[in-house]
Amino acid sequence: MTKMQHSRPISGASQASGSKEVIKIRGWVERLGHELDEMMKRVSALVRQESPTSHSDAVNAARETVAKWAEELGARVTRHARGGSRGVLEARFGTPKDERRPVLLLGHLDTVWPVGMLARMPWRVADGWAYGPGVLDMKAGVVMALTAMKLVREVDTDRPVVLLLSGDEETGSHDSRELIEEVAKECRAAFVLEPAQGPQGAYKTARKGVGQFRLEIRGVPSHSGVDFGAGHSAVRELAWQIEQISALTDLDRGTTLNVGVVGGGTQSNVVAAEAWADIDLRVTTVAEAEMITRRLQALETRDAQCTLRLAGGLNRPPMERTEGTAKLFAHAKALAAQLGFALEEAATGGGSDGNFTSALGVPTLDGMGAIGVGAHAENESIRIDSLPSRTALLAAMIATTV
Ligand SMILES: [Zn+2]
Repeated sequence: MTKMQHSRPISGASQASGSKEVIKIRGWVERLGHELDEMMKRVSALVRQESPTSHSDAVNAARETVAKWAEELGARVTRHARGGSRGVLEARFGTPKDERRPVLLLGHLDTVWPVGMLARMPWRVADGWAYGPGVLDMKAGVVMALTAMKLVREVDTDRPVVLLLSGDEETGSHDSRELIEEVAKECRAAFVLEPAQGPQGAYKTARKGVGQFRLEIRGVPSHSGVDFGAGHSAVRELAWQIEQISALTDLDRGTTLNVGVVGGGTQSNVVAAEAWADIDLRVTTVAEAEMITRRLQALETRDAQCTLRLAGGLNRPPMERTEGTAKLFAHAKALAAQLGFALEEAATGGGSDGNFTSALGVPTLDGMGAIGVGAHAENESIRIDSLPSRTALLAAMIATTV
């Protein structure tokens, strides 16, 4: 292709008719079919490089592997110290002088699995599926992004694309959020490499918001045998509070509160002085999050001698289905049809870094990574034969989003 063609927008399915520059994206699927072994080698390498959020050296080692791949493709790579000890990887493709706003490819390198988990759930391929810790969430997605960029650069070397991979997504992106938001603000659209939804691989156009709270209770301790009446049990108070909190769940509105972890007390013969609970909140709108937060703050003790303290709040705002996101999805659906498959959209209760970009008003499509099952579960796996078409679609989306 000539230089002149490089600098022109390339037609996608939605404006394809009559243009001689229509990308032969069907060719991309076939081509990636031939390169599938190469892709799977990379997925395998990354899965074997265990990278739990809590282990910054391990996350940074995985980051280095991906940084080298990006540099081979001509990206300008920054290994950020920002984003905490598990710093963010930023790989910029394209020519700085190109004035098109970049597309953001957003993902993460950390997994929920501790180092050593490979012994229990080893990398293996069987019946067209590949298994291993983090393979679906989201090491395959990271490899898909780099493979897609290889295709995109062949037709449009100048196109600005930022690949941003954090190292603390699985614990809420507390350290990387600021950088993600800063980069997202300059971008035309955000494509999130999280796993697709369901066996058909739907893209995610809406996600619930996620709140994280801790309720701490102080009671009055006493000896349960000698002086039971003087005690005011924080554990008993907690049991009552759990019911009050759970009663705020409203499934019709998509609002759920899960008291997922509790603790308290010291010994069975001591009336407990302290107890606590970690609460996960899911909501579909910011207004709902604010209402629930107020109600949690207004909780009152049943035992007047106990005291409550609530910490936390909304961590990820809901990713609402905006007009910009709907347009992106329509475009993706048309491209998928050209590739020969039907693309569905879905809403999910899970949060991702896409919640941050969407809340900033950046059109965001999520679930653009691999198809599989068992994210965060021991049967975590991807469907290998879905990689060529999914990656071709990702590449076509990057190449045609203007
Ligand atoms: Zn993930």
